[in-house]
Amino acid sequence: MKRGYAFKSCNVIYGDAGRSIDRNMTILIHEKGLIEKIGKASDVVIPEDYETIDLAGEYVMPGLINAHVHLFADGKPFTLSVNERLLKFAFHHILDTKLGRNVLKKRMKRNALTALHSGVTTMRSVGEFFYTDVKLRDEIKANQFVGPNLQVSGYFLSVTGGHGAPYLALVGDSPWEARRNVRINVKNGVDLIKICVTGGVTDAKTVGEAGRLQMTEEEVATICEEAHKIGIRVAAHVESTEGVRIALKGGVDTIEHGAEMDEEIIQLYKNNPKALKGYTAVIPTLQAGYPSAKLDTSLTKLNATIKENSRLVYDSMLKGLQQAIEHDIKIGVGTDAAMSFVTHYDIWRELDHLIRQTKLNTAQVIERVTKSNAEILGIDHLTGTIDIGKQADLIVMKHNPLDNIKALSNVTMVMVNGNLIQTPSVTRIQEVDELLDTVWDSTSYEY
Ligand SMILES: [Zn+2]
Repeated sequence: MKRGYAFKSCNVIYGDAGRSIDRNMTILIHEKGLIEKIGKASDVVIPEDYETIDLAGEYVMPGLINAHVHLFADGKPFTLSVNERLLKFAFHHILDTKLGRNVLKKRMKRNALTALHSGVTTMRSVGEFFYTDVKLRDEIKANQFVGPNLQVSGYFLSVTGGHGAPYLALVGDSPWEARRNVRINVKNGVDLIKICVTGGVTDAKTVGEAGRLQMTEEEVATICEEAHKIGIRVAAHVESTEGVRIALKGGVDTIEHGAEMDEEIIQLYKNNPKALKGYTAVIPTLQAGYPSAKLDTSLTKLNATIKENSRLVYDSMLKGLQQAIEHDIKIGVGTDAAMSFVTHYDIWRELDHLIRQTKLNTAQVIERVTKSNAEILGIDHLTGTIDIGKQADLIVMKHNPLDNIKALSNVTMVMVNGNLIQTPSVTRIQEVDELLDTVWDSTSYEY
């Protein structure tokens, strides 16, 4: 039986924009799943009982981290219009049955594996039904199957009539009810708390409703206090400037999606005494907004309200992101995979989008999706860069992603916690790929 792996003749990208690429390297991976040694081929002796994999000049970098996903869906466009009676019926008579829960769990597992095979070795899942995300995480941890590292939030925390309520959220209408809901999620084993401070595009019924304030600052602050007390983070769904202000004042650790900022907000991001680490990061999800916001409704099949809400949210989110870069606010990368047109296998599109629409260069974008995301999730001691002692979460590509980020769309090998997937395979959704390919071909680089 082999005691480890040796990746031979590879070019190493460390996931840290400050370190340059090293060529003709050998990486040793210990059987315990950790990176044991990294060095020039001539300096590293490969132990006899290690399996040597000759990468013949291919590129190795840290596995990607997607900081904002949902596992319950795969990115095929939702065609179901929001009809409450239909939704209620579907929830109680299809999803919330023994069979329904089993089907859901299988689907979530498939989506997690799709992501893994495309190079995403860590996912932060921010809103799922029935704590199925907790179960999947535990099965992976117990080695029942090889899956990505998962951080899970269980149900959203929301208010009556709020985003995701009632089916995807625990509802609370006071600080104490909100605190109880944190405790319920914690008791069920979540890694983080996801809250909805404003409405969202998916359930807004009128234009402008997506960013409407729902939680109060007092509710947010209580949730943060309860979560931070036991060292877990709070991620806030926010789609308007006023929502960001309330969330930051309450002390959240990440703003999901985000919006245009003013001076008070910029300062609060950078120095937020109530946040677990003293600052708040922003995790934009451009890919979730762009197709709905910018493509013709004849292509997207969306109604005019969704399109207009998407446009408002996308434009403000992009403005906020550009301000975040300008003011050196910590930025993570998430896609909101599961939303319409956002698959689990194309995080490279989010990176491509960042390069096209902001001043970030390719190396900086790679750092955001690896090292920075690990820091934001509080797992940078475990993963996010290629360093001795870290988990062997690695991806291999034929082409150099620093030259063209699209190299990430075709990983030739994936390793997670030292488990090697030698021939990764992803089932693509052709209709979504074709639609998105038209977007990117017609968009020119701004910088
Ligand atoms: Zn989301």
